[in-house]
Amino acid sequence: MKDYLMMTPGPTTIRENVRRAMMQPITNPDLDGDFFTLYKEVTEQFKQLVDTKEAAYILCGEGILGLEAACASLIEPGDRVLCLENGIFGKGFGDFVEMYGGQVVYFSGHPQKGIDPEALKIFLEKDHDFKMATLVHCETPSGITNPVHLLAPILKEKGILTVVDAVSAVGGEEMHADAWGIDILLVGSQKCLSAAPGLTLVTVSADAIAAMENRKVPIVGFYANLMIWKEWESKQWFPYTQPISDIYGLKVALENALAEDDMVARHRVLAERCRQTVLAAGLELFPIEAYANTVTAVQQPASVDFKQLFNYMKDEYGLLMAGAFGDLEGKVIRIGHMGENANASMLSRMFDVFQKGLEAQGVQLDVDMKQYFDSIN
Ligand SMILES: *Cc1c(COP(=O)(O)O)cnc(C)c1O
Repeated sequence: MKDYLMMTPGPTTIRENVRRAMMQPITNPDLDGDFFTLYKEVTEQFKQLVDTKEAAYILCGEGILGLEAACASLIEPGDRVLCLENGIFGKGFGDFVEMYGGQVVYFSGHPQKGIDPEALKIFLEKDHDFKMATLVHCETPSGITNPVHLLAPILKEKGILTVVDAVSAVGGEEMHADAWGIDILLVGSQKCLSAAPGLTLVTVSADAIAAMENRKVPIVGFYANLMIWKEWESKQWFPYTQPISDIYGLKVALENALAEDDMVARHRVLAERCRQTVLAAGLELFPIEAYANTVTAVQQPASVDFKQLFNYMKDEYGLLMAGAFGDLEGKVIRIGHMGENANASMLSRMFDVFQKGLEAQGVQLDVDMKQYFDSIN
């Protein structure tokens, strides 16, 4: 495998101390009490990062497992579920809801703007008979961060359980899960936390646990059933063998995050510099507002063939950049600046190659993006 400059919106570059942690000797995670102690520390570190006192679990599957588990565990056939959506992940949540028998109602926002809390309030005045709502913190494909700090409390006030996909946000955006009334918060290991792909970190509120316990119809399935985790702490028991090397790595990644003075500010400042650079070059951003701290979505110039651009930057310069998928395919090119990739020197190198790639496709740019990016630090 080549060592690429990976400026994709996840997976992100993994720091050496995280990689080294993953090489530690393997113990038996079910029998060795020391592993239990370490695991407990990991959940405490995660809880500190997202500012919660509620339960936290680490699911052994990439971020999507968390989205499915939240739906599998809370939804009973016929439950009405409000899916707030202004992009691909928001909309996709509805598919999971339906899979588990929920009745989806979409509350749709403008695809280039953050979801409007005032509009949500007005909507809920007419209809708030929902068991739960799903919302996406950062819509990674479109580079938009929704105002979860405003949206979640509005839903919670109406007695609606809130499930928040913050897979690509936590670490790069503020998060105060308890203060905002988030019942289930979902975070991925491979985005801003810059650990290896393969784990979902999840918080589960007492209200969410009560809703699961009070179900009339049992939860279907095992892996996606959050209740299998309920007694891991009191019984010092895991429902299945833990991916111990991944957990070792995650622990150090969380320590890296917590050791930083202001990780969110680092993301915010570099995101702003990326946007200024892109605009100075004469390119356009996809969002009109609510720009994400963790990913910049650039409108793909009409003359560009993304596959050709991607291959050129990869083969000639070892840079990996992402396009977009779904409705945004061929419309958006994404600069990932999350976790370890929110790094000025990496972004500077990226702009140098991005410039060359675009120029090779006949795009005229108004500035040298690398020079411009470097000059506005
Ligand atoms: C990355 C991501 C996920 C997890 O999905 P994968 O693409 O399979 O990694 C879920 N939600 C959001 C918002 C994400 O950015």
